[in-house]
Amino acid sequence: MANEKIEKGGISVETAQIFPIIKKWLYSDKDIFLREIVSNACDACTKLRRLSSLGQVEGIEDDFKIKVAVSKEENTITVTDNGIGMTEDELKRYICQIALSGALEFIEKYEGEGDASSGIIGHFGLGFYSAFMVSGTVDVITRSYTGAPAIKWVCTEGGEYEMSEIEEAERGTSVVMHITEGEEEYLEKDKLMAILKKYCSFMPVEIYFEDSDASADADEKADGAEADKEADKEADKPVNDVNPLWQKNASECSPEEYKEFYGKVFSDFKEPLFHIHINADYPLNFKGILYFPRITHEYESLEGEVKLYYNQVFVADNIKEVIPEYLTMLKGVLDCPELPLNVSRSYLQNNSYVSKLSAHIVKKVADKINGLYNTEREEYERIWDDLKTFVEYGCLRDRKFYDRVKNAILFKLSDGSYLTINDYLESAKEKHENTVYYSTDAVSQAQYISMLSSQDIKVVVLDKIIDTQFIQVIETDRAGVKFKRVDSGLADALKGEGETIESEELKELFKKVSGNDKLTVTFETLKNDKVPAILTVSEESRRMEDMMRLYAMSGNGMDMPNMTETSLVLNTSNGIIRRLTEDTASAKSEKIARQIYSLALISQRRLSASELEEFLSHSYDMLSDF
Ligand code: ADP
Repeated sequence: MANEKIEKGGISVETAQIFPIIKKWLYSDKDIFLREIVSNACDACTKLRRLSSLGQVEGIEDDFKIKVAVSKEENTITVTDNGIGMTEDELKRYICQIALSGALEFIEKYEGEGDASSGIIGHFGLGFYSAFMVSGTVDVITRSYTGAPAIKWVCTEGGEYEMSEIEEAERGTSVVMHITEGEEEYLEKDKLMAILKKYCSFMPVEIYFEDSDASADADEKADGAEADKEADKEADKPVNDVNPLWQKNASECSPEEYKEFYGKVFSDFKEPLFHIHINADYPLNFKGILYFPRITHEYESLEGEVKLYYNQVFVADNIKEVIPEYLTMLKGVLDCPELPLNVSRSYLQNNSYVSKLSAHIVKKVADKINGLYNTEREEYERIWDDLKTFVEYGCLRDRKFYDRVKNAILFKLSDGSYLTINDYLESAKEKHENTVYYSTDAVSQAQYISMLSSQDIKVVVLDKIIDTQFIQVIETDRAGVKFKRVDSGLADALKGEGETIESEELKELFKKVSGNDKLTVTFETLKNDKVPAILTVSEESRRMEDMMRLYAMSGNGMDMPNMTETSLVLNTSNGIIRRLTEDTASAKSEKIARQIYSLALISQRRLSASELEEFLSHSYDMLSDF
């Protein structure tokens, strides 16, 4: 070794201050030291690759790689690259003279705001110094691609360094971190692998992990034990994928590749509904793949996961500022080289680039929905049930999103088919112009549905809580259009011809048996003569009550007092009603009326426990007359 000339120095007067601050401030996220050192190594390779492709250097083989080696025996983590390397001069300039004064000012200003820590590192190019969060001494051994002499630089925790020329043959840089007491967990292979997987999975230069102690042992034993062979095998495979799918053109990727990528990145075995591959050029300049996960039921957590990358280096998960809140159920990756590697929440808020990025994503999502609707209608109908909640939620939160997708919104009919609102209204023109009949529960409202269906009136099924809020968006958008629940009144089409006989006595009798003297009783002659009576509830007051129930959803919503205005329609084309009109005074008539009222109630909604009990005992009582 040619160690004749050793240069000593101190990084700067302020280093004594910066080192403890780096340690203290970054305490919560020490793991990123590895990302910083490995991404520096990656940059060093990319730079040389670029110089070579530009023809500025010759004879460089494209076999760039990074090795992350750990040794418990030596107490070190070593990151080695065969990139551009540094000359003595460069090392002094890039590593020794850090912009400390600015950093110190920044730290003083923001001290106490937890979020600022990542800002300091990124802002002042202190990435390299994050190594000191876990190391006492850090060595840098580097040799520039120019062929200048190799340099070894050793820097202690206090900021003092020694620099000397050495005879290092290999081009590139090794950063040797001597792990300090208390940070030994970073010498654990699993811990390091987990950090590499999280931050470096898609870095553009191959990264190999090596357990130096195991490799040294294997070298000693000529034939090598099984475990050592395993270690070797592992070291043969890079830990990262240098060509992540998002970097390719969508036309080059197969559906299988998208699914595989999804499964691998999100460990989700359910196939996503579909994906969007975004490749936005200047000025937005970002790439990404967003997936619509399959949501199996309404109350499943809608929390998605969008991973943000900076030139293939992982930055953060779930950056809410980049994705509008109603799209956070998406899963995916976004690579935004326009954002700094160390983004902070405060930086992202009110950043005009970020809002443009977010608007672009919304547009792409809407385009995809419209595209599927226009070109793959069958497939679109197949996934609509899964997509619906999300689309409705988006429409409720963002009017612009609604405007973009409104023509692709489908309604499921009670017969299982799907229609758009335009098609529905078109089919309603003759019999019920501008009225959309819907059911919130196809089972308990089956009688109403079948009465309407028999008159060729289509019924839309809206059985999710969000649906009731969503239809108000449509009603606001389309003046004149009204959604009516099947039991909210009688469609004109159900009414038949013939005289309607009204009886005050019968009204009173039904008020009596219902136990509700405010009950409105009306008479109609219906086409269907099988049904004696139908209960209708005012759409407005029922919606109101639904809302209140939603707010009071504290468990026993079922037994909330029923305040909705209810009417009982007696069907005078029905034989029993006609007979009752003739005899309203007998005890038998009262029994029959009570039973008719209960049956009308049952076909309108679920009975409460006490109502059911009363109904059953009354029914048994009637049967005993047999
Ligand atoms: P930043 O990467 O944000 O510029 P760093 O403190 O991480 O800040 O690094 C400072 C500089 O040191 C880099 O810009 C680069 O020029 C140089 N450097 C760091 N690591 C390496 C490496 N492995 N190979 C070559 N140069 C490096």
